[in-house]
Amino acid sequence: MEIVETINEVRERLARARVQGRVGLVPTMGALHAGHASLIEAARRACDTVVVSIFVNPTQFGPNEDFDRYPRDLRADADICERLGVDLVFAPSTREMYPRVNRTWVEVEKLSEPLCGARRPGHFRGVATVCTKLFNIVQPDVAYFGQKDAQQAIIIRRIVADLNLPLEIIVCPIVREPDGLAISSRNQYLDAAQRREATRLYQALSAARRRFADGVRQTEALIATMREVLSQSPALRVEYVEIVDAETLEPVASIERPALVALAVHAGSTRLIDNTILDLNDPTASV
Ligand code: AMP
Repeated sequence: MEIVETINEVRERLARARVQGRVGLVPTMGALHAGHASLIEAARRACDTVVVSIFVNPTQFGPNEDFDRYPRDLRADADICERLGVDLVFAPSTREMYPRVNRTWVEVEKLSEPLCGARRPGHFRGVATVCTKLFNIVQPDVAYFGQKDAQQAIIIRRIVADLNLPLEIIVCPIVREPDGLAISSRNQYLDAAQRREATRLYQALSAARRRFADGVRQTEALIATMREVLSQSPALRVEYVEIVDAETLEPVASIERPALVALAVHAGSTRLIDNTILDLNDPTASV
């Protein structure tokens, strides 16, 4: 496995690989965990060359967010990549990715506006721009994203379609801890009490899913159920609990088509997100 820090090295290293076989890209911000590993494993199964990018992208963090304290440990990440059979790790500096003031941005209208987009202004513009840059640098045949960041995955798919980017996007299921908490690099910010309470996000989604399986279709009722579960913990502050169309991200009153149930909750200064899809064709599936 090679670790490179410059765009030129990526291009040189992949020139031949690209002609010889399929190149898969897994974009990450590092602090790799089992969620990232599931993406890397999917890439390893389907591609000849697997590239993992590790870049804590400053343009997707707001001024009061956790850019400075975001966990960084390239040595540990490289060990994980090595173990998973990654071919190339691209770990650029901020200067390498943004050598000058950035003037060109990728903005995805509508899809960037609700849910996390409404609470993190500029976040999806940063995500969309850095992913487009990574696609241009690596030129993968396929890129892997997690359903954990459902809105991000929808936005990335739309960029690829709207800009005719020649790659396939694969979205992998959410990997969870045994108690249901969605695995996240930010879980390590939680203290023991917050960690215990954080499982209520999963419990809230599961409760909504049970009511849906019982025939409840009105989103207002499902949202009330989830808020009730979350409100049992004084340690959690709800940012949003919403149910939207799984394709357009527009609010829905009654679930007739696949719907995205998404929530964001603060435990102390840590922001946690989770989601599930409710689908009439599969009403009893688990979260
Ligand atoms: P991040 O490093 O947080 O930017 O995440 C990099 C990629 O890993 C994104 O596509 C995430 O959606 C995905 N990811 C993060 N956590 C999980 C998880 N628990 N299960 C599946 N994918 C995940």
